[in-house]
Amino acid sequence: MRTFLDLQLKLYSQVNAEETALLYAATALSVSQEPQGLFHLEGSMQVLSDRLVESLERDGGKLLMRHTVEHIKVENNNCSAIVIRNQKTGESWTESAEHVVANVTVQNLVQLLGEKAPKGYKKRVENLPPASGAFVIYLGVDQSAIPPECPPHLQFLYDGNGPIGENNSLFVSVSRVNDGRAPVGKATIIASSFVDVDKWFYQENYDVIKTEFTQEAISHLAKFFYLKPETIIHQEAATPRTFYNFTARDKGMVGGIGQRIPTFGPFGFANRTPINNLWLVGDSTHPGEGTAGVSYSALTVVRQIESLNR
Ligand SMILES: Cc1cc2nc3c(=O)[nH]c(=O)nc-3n(C[C@H](O)[C@H](O)[C@H](O)COP(=O)(O)OP(=O)(O)OC[C@H]3O[C@@H](n4cnc5c(N)ncnc54)[C@H](O)[C@@H]3O)c2cc1C
Repeated sequence: MRTFLDLQLKLYSQVNAEETALLYAATALSVSQEPQGLFHLEGSMQVLSDRLVESLERDGGKLLMRHTVEHIKVENNNCSAIVIRNQKTGESWTESAEHVVANVTVQNLVQLLGEKAPKGYKKRVENLPPASGAFVIYLGVDQSAIPPECPPHLQFLYDGNGPIGENNSLFVSVSRVNDGRAPVGKATIIASSFVDVDKWFYQENYDVIKTEFTQEAISHLAKFFYLKPETIIHQEAATPRTFYNFTARDKGMVGGIGQRIPTFGPFGFANRTPINNLWLVGDSTHPGEGTAGVSYSALTVVRQIESLNR
């Protein structure tokens, strides 16, 4: 029972049952219960992104892809503007705003503020326990690789000397027939495990570790799925370096801040930052990770800004 709780909680809180704040644990555990429970979106998570973009544009918002916010400008403790760079052309410009909502990790927020980051805030961020990274393997397989009656989510626990054994579990998500994630007769298997972020940033052995993790993950998965060269059609792996490259998250860390008592709820990072008109949303803030969680933090900020303008 304890092991089951540890595995379930770690997925959400980053830490085991011993360390997870009780209120967070109660919520996280009930999220996966029937009648709501966990479910797949038809057409995958891409559908959610598409709807978000549609709604943003419907309401007059503008989404810039391949643009980086390089700096948040602060004058007299007021957030006054941001510096944006077009990744393709290299062109950069300053955009001023009444409110700036940063949708980045709190570590990235401190970097974006540079020397204007309040000292106490910076210290709090530096003192956070190391955050987790993820190793994820994405397989496109023939439907025959999936056992009959296979549930859409599985969690495997390992005890071993290999890299996955060290981090002890694989969380697996399997597509269902006609759910829009794979063509007819094919399926997807996505398996992720928690990893420490640091070792993935040394160039010399990056490919070696990535291959080791990939092979071990496939050999574990092959105990449940029928994985042979003839059933694996496509394979890709993502490491903390991948998450860093594609999302710019500091060290490619994922999952936000562990939901331990000292960083949960009122003790966590607030949406309101110590700098006027600068807000923080996303998985570093309450209630933490997950698309539902980060949407809730954004909604909280919208309500607070609206109440200021009333
Ligand atoms: C392997 C894995 C599987 C997951 N599975 C699920 C799942 O099934 N369901 C679920 O609900 N959640 C899942 N999650 C969690 C979910 O992905 C995260 O909680 C969520 O994406 C966090 O949202 P965010 O807005 O805080 O950060 P992000 O998703 O990182 O969004 C921040 C965005 O800002 C952009 N950005 C960053 N810095 C800058 C900058 N300087 N300038 C401009 N843009 C910038 C990034 O490119 C990114 O697009 C999973 C996470 C992982 C790692």
